[in-house]
Amino acid sequence: MGQIHELNNVLADQIAAGEVIERPASIVKELVENSLDADSKRVDIIVENAGLDSIRVIDDGIGIAADDVPLAFRRHATSKISSRKDLFRVQTMGFRGEALPSIASVADVELTTAQEEKAAGTMIHLRGGETLANKPAPARRGTDVRVTDLFYNTPARLKYLKSPHTELARITDIINRLALANPSVAFSFTHNGKEIFRSAGNGNLQQVVAAIYGIQAGRKMLPISGEDDDFKVTGYVSLPELTRASRQYITITINHRYIRNFELTKAIIQGYESKLMVGRYPIAVVNIDLDPVLVDVNVHPAKREVRLSKEPQLTKLISQTIRNRIATENLIPDVDAQA
Ligand code: ADP
Ligand code: MG
Repeated sequence: MGQIHELNNVLADQIAAGEVIERPASIVKELVENSLDADSKRVDIIVENAGLDSIRVIDDGIGIAADDVPLAFRRHATSKISSRKDLFRVQTMGFRGEALPSIASVADVELTTAQEEKAAGTMIHLRGGETLANKPAPARRGTDVRVTDLFYNTPARLKYLKSPHTELARITDIINRLALANPSVAFSFTHNGKEIFRSAGNGNLQQVVAAIYGIQAGRKMLPISGEDDDFKVTGYVSLPELTRASRQYITITINHRYIRNFELTKAIIQGYESKLMVGRYPIAVVNIDLDPVLVDVNVHPAKREVRLSKEPQLTKLISQTIRNRIATENLIPDVDAQA
């Protein structure tokens, strides 16, 4: 008798969850990215006890049709890509169809959603991958997802979490990055009933920088802009006098997706040449617009790392753009010195 058998869906989802849903911050990231993919203009994030008690994300996006609601929780079910061709030119944050089933396999999830033109919405309730309810709900354009009892059925995961303080810092960090990557979306973040962060959603990136790093820092940011045949680089970088002791304050986004990339970070720092003190790093938000064929986002399940074509050309453009901006800045007399 053979020994090989297929795993049941819930078990398979829990295994996938191990890669995508490491901690409360991963849930926040996946839910907010779904809201962004749904063309939301407003995303409210409400968290209790660093996500260990509850994580709720409410958006005003396109919602999900009633028939599609159960499908959204099926593994590899997505509305975002359909062919191999699409995979090589992904325009959305999601495409793997893994987040919702993964989350639902390790927590309690209630999702309420409605599409604008429809009379009624839908509410679905899942726990440990099992659907407990699926029924009509009052209409309100958008989607509201609440996750509670995270990792209740995977004790090892629960144990592996750090202190609420650390988990909250990670949630705050990812929300900051998503807000910096999407200045046209109004974000709010409330923790234990207290508002931690809010952005206006008016497209003004400098305002978002000021909301996160402080008004003083916001004033010392220089807009940058540069382009070549393949890439367009925009954003804000701090004056060389405004620095921090870690690279944490550098945010890089590719087509509005927050990513981490050592070479691009290095290129930003190199743009300052010798103007930074040893061990000091700028505050920067650098967005790179490119044709999606030039980037492979299907490298890492959480999509933090991407593979870039023409990376050396891009690093050169980034350094060059920042170097030029800082050089011109030095030509403009100091406002305070004039007074
Ligand atoms: P993916 O984002 O990779 O497609 P998910 O599991 O995150 O996979 O979501 C599955 C599907 O559920 C999405 O493709 C989308 O159609 C739908 N969906 C999830 N969240 C939202 C939301 N906030 N608004 C509208 N649709 C959503
Ligand atoms: Mg998704």
